[in-house]
Amino acid sequence: MHSENHEIDDRLFRNAMGCFATGVTVITTKIEEDIFGMTANAFMSVSLNPKLVAISIGKNAKMHEHVKVSKQFAINILSTNQQNESKQFAGQLVAESNITFASFKNVPILEDTVAVVTCELHSEYIVGDHTIFIGKVTGVKMNQGEPLLFSQGKYRELKELERE
Ligand code: FAD
Repeated sequence: MHSENHEIDDRLFRNAMGCFATGVTVITTKIEEDIFGMTANAFMSVSLNPKLVAISIGKNAKMHEHVKVSKQFAINILSTNQQNESKQFAGQLVAESNITFASFKNVPILEDTVAVVTCELHSEYIVGDHTIFIGKVTGVKMNQGEPLLFSQGKYRELKELERE
């Protein structure tokens, strides 16, 4: 009841937060001709009218600066066959593969995702060691496929439950 924030173990906090299952996105942006991507699951839809979404990026991530400079980004919602892309854009692959980007609304996007949302930077909020970037939606695109999931540190896929 009275426990201070600093008494909560970081690992316990991360493990507990990992119980909240999410999809997986790669945030992409470009600065002049240079394209950058970063894996992120801290994404949510915020507002319908106007259409706004939020992503949360750690201050130490290079993408943090890239988004501030470019003021536009895409949220690529990965499909079940894009585990490698998730690992690549999280810096977890030893041998990186060559990624081909497409372009949508003048923002680089990944191919074969389940959906893509492009945004202009609307506002940003510094919150602890992260910044929450709010994006004003400029474009939406959907493809066939099932979303890749991430939960308790593992990649997973959806399974429909039996109706009761
Ligand atoms: P870098 O470390 O420079 O880039 C990350 C990787 O992407 C590098 O390996 C780089 O080679 C590759 N890459 C970048 N651009 C290209 C390109 N054009 N072509 C090919 N490869 C490229 N962090 C957060 O801040 N917020 C989150 O919500 C979040 N969610 C995550 C969810 C999951 C499931 C995972 C695995 C990680 C998550 N992370 C999150 C951590 C984040 O993905 C890593 O810390 C990441 O390495 C930070 O990237 P960076 O911007 O510092 O750039």
